[in-house]
Amino acid sequence: MNNEIEAAFSREEFVKLLDENNQLKNQLLVLEAKCSSLEESLNHKNNLFMDAPAGICLLEGPEHVYKFVNPIYYKLIGGREVIGKSIREALPELEGQGIYELLDNVYKTGKPFIGNEIQIQLEIEGYLTDIYFNFIYQPSYDSKKNINGVSVFCFDVTDQAISRQKTEHLSEQLKIANDILKENEKRLDLKVKERTAELERERKTLYDLFYNAPATICVFRGPEHIYEFVNPNYKSLYSDRQLLGLPIRATAPELEGQGFFELLDNVYNKSEPFIGNESKVTLKNNDGNYSEYYFNFIYQPIIDNNNQVTGITVFAFNVTEQVIARNRLENLNKELQVSENKYRSLAESLETTVENRTNDLLIANKEIEYQRNKLENLFMNAPASICSLSGAEHTFIFTNNTYKTLFGNRNVIGKTVREAMHELDGQGFFELLDKVYNTGEPFIGNEVPIQLNPNNTGSPVLKYLNFIYQPVYDLDNKIEGISVFTFDITEQVLARQRAEKLTEQIEKEKKALKESEETFRVLAETIPNLVWTANPDGYVDYYNQKFLDFVGLSIEEIRGWGWKSFIHPEDLESTVVSWTHAIQTGELYQTEYRFKKAEDGKYYWFIGRALPLYDENKNIVKWFGACTEIEEQKQVEQELENTNKELERFNYIASHDLQSPLRTISSYSKLLQRRYENKLDQNANDFLEIIINASINMKNLIDDLLSFSRVGKQGITYREVRLNDVIKDILKTNKTSIDENNALITHDDLPVIKAEYTHIFQIYQNLISNAIKYRSSNISPVITLSVKQNNNKWVFSVSDNGIGIEEKYFNHIFELFKRLHNKDEYSGSGIGLATVKKIIDMYDEKIWVESEYGKGTTFFFTFPI
Ligand code: ADP
Repeated sequence: MNNEIEAAFSREEFVKLLDENNQLKNQLLVLEAKCSSLEESLNHKNNLFMDAPAGICLLEGPEHVYKFVNPIYYKLIGGREVIGKSIREALPELEGQGIYELLDNVYKTGKPFIGNEIQIQLEIEGYLTDIYFNFIYQPSYDSKKNINGVSVFCFDVTDQAISRQKTEHLSEQLKIANDILKENEKRLDLKVKERTAELERERKTLYDLFYNAPATICVFRGPEHIYEFVNPNYKSLYSDRQLLGLPIRATAPELEGQGFFELLDNVYNKSEPFIGNESKVTLKNNDGNYSEYYFNFIYQPIIDNNNQVTGITVFAFNVTEQVIARNRLENLNKELQVSENKYRSLAESLETTVENRTNDLLIANKEIEYQRNKLENLFMNAPASICSLSGAEHTFIFTNNTYKTLFGNRNVIGKTVREAMHELDGQGFFELLDKVYNTGEPFIGNEVPIQLNPNNTGSPVLKYLNFIYQPVYDLDNKIEGISVFTFDITEQVLARQRAEKLTEQIEKEKKALKESEETFRVLAETIPNLVWTANPDGYVDYYNQKFLDFVGLSIEEIRGWGWKSFIHPEDLESTVVSWTHAIQTGELYQTEYRFKKAEDGKYYWFIGRALPLYDENKNIVKWFGACTEIEEQKQVEQELENTNKELERFNYIASHDLQSPLRTISSYSKLLQRRYENKLDQNANDFLEIIINASINMKNLIDDLLSFSRVGKQGITYREVRLNDVIKDILKTNKTSIDENNALITHDDLPVIKAEYTHIFQIYQNLISNAIKYRSSNISPVITLSVKQNNNKWVFSVSDNGIGIEEKYFNHIFELFKRLHNKDEYSGSGIGLATVKKIIDMYDEKIWVESEYGKGTTFFFTFPI
């Protein structure tokens, strides 16, 4: 072949041509290399373009034919194949939405259009869907600076738009973004005009697009993520920090620990993109403070022809405002929820409160109702009589129950007082009512007597009333009636009147008492006795002057119990005992004691007696005491006692000494009678007989006297005495006389007592022999010996059916030598009962007689059980 060419050209021409050829080849190689570098550059831009998070497309010609769409745009239009189609063919649903016209306008005028939150209805998966866009329609030019198309840069801002609609903030943010876009558009316009080469222009356009995009964009190179490109949005995050040519770790050390370095490393090493959503970034400001941002971002690995990762593209959208807005919204919502909950619970609690209040009200209503009823009840049954009168004629319009009780159950309602209560006529009440009605002055009546005749029968009843006439006024302040409150105080008035009378009487009695006290005092002071008075408790409160003079003490010295000072010490105990007994029992106080006379310092005997004075309730109010001097009497008694003792001595001696001559007389008289009876004449014999009898009587008398005077001489030697045995012995001793008189003697089973046998024998012997002796002449004696128990005493009795004793002699028969009959009727000495009494006295016991004259006699005597 070379040979053929060599043949056609000269060698020089051929060499020249070959040289030229080589030069061309080299040029071609250079061009090829340039081309390849340009292509690589274009590819790189294309990659950026293709991977950008914004929807990007290029429309060509006046019909806006799709020449290029990036994947996001493709996705935005619902994955429809649009390349080669005009926009009207590709997106027919935009008809009528103004988009075509906008594009036409940009194409015609060369003025770019920036749409902000433009709402467009797009058909996605068969449905028309509302989508909000921010977009830029940017005219593109050919080399001759003629418009040949429109580039579209759009962002789906549906979320933001909705957020914006919710928050005012976002709209402002977008407005700023729009302003920036407008600014960018101007700059872009300028730069585009400067470009001549279409590729360069395209590249520049894209670069500017990135540079000025409202997104935050940067490009890292190498595994160290060295900044190769940052757009102003990105740069502004770091203020005036130097970024380009430096690794991110060096420029933004504050990101350490926030996970971004590791993410970048990961994207770089694994060649996998990373999409971050609303990630929080904390960056340091110039002033040293930190700011928080939220970003949606994509870390997109840059892959070269050899499929090697050489860097990372970062597209980030600052969504701080939205996040804050949303957070605020959420917070607001939460707050709303909280306040809604609060409101609900408030409403609920309000409901409960209302319910409770309703219940309370119901209860309160009931209570009020109850109270009202109670009040009405109270009013109706008030202790006051209440009535209500109307008009000048005082017509009854109301009366309560008590009113009816007082004034009678007459039919008064509707009647005037003058009609309803005739009996009050002339008692002044009507006139009083008239006066109250006419003057308006209330009237208070106090204890006013009234004659009432409720049933108009019989005689009227007197009552006493307290009452009030109270005028009642109408709304015009005119008197329209009178209300009357009346209290029936008849009982109180009568009671008071009774009390007054009683007081008067008491006063009188007091006066009388005072007078009688005065009289008593005068009397007490004038009588010769010593007089005193004492309180019921024994406190002596008064001595008469004679008393004070006698003891020589003042009333102050001996008032109360001071009398102990002038009483004889030996009499003190017995006096205290009997005085205490008297004031405890109210029994008559009687005692004998000796008082020391101040005048001579000697003691004198007194007999003191006191009687209690009772009130109407039988309570002792006073003791009145008097002391009578018995010194003389005491002396006489003493003398008598002495005489008696002497007499007794004489008695004993005489009877004892007389026994012997008497025995001589008796013996010789009997001897004389026996020996000389026949030798003496009748008279002498009779005289002899008298002497013998007289000496027998004398002997009996002396025996009785001796036994009487022997009683008590030796004192008592107590032994157990079986009374049944005593009776047996007596029946034996008296057998002859019992038989002669045909007497019947019966006895109870008698007890054993402590005494001296001879004493008991003497008692029964005297009583039984008397019962036989003083028998009735016509019936046989029947004698009964009985015993009864009375407290701690045996009460023995000896009863007969004999002649009896007149009551006036009951006490006398126990006196020595006392006889009720002469010796012719009944023999005896009058010493027997005196002896019995003397024995009983010795035992400190009692003997007494009960008898019915002519029917029989019973003697009683006691012994301790
Ligand atoms: P006399 O020795 O006279 O019986 P008494 O002292 O025994 O003396 O009695 C005194 C008087 O009491 C008697 O004189 C007698 O009049 C009267 N008298 C005693 N016992 C009875 C009796 N059982 N019935 C009636 N009179 C009696």
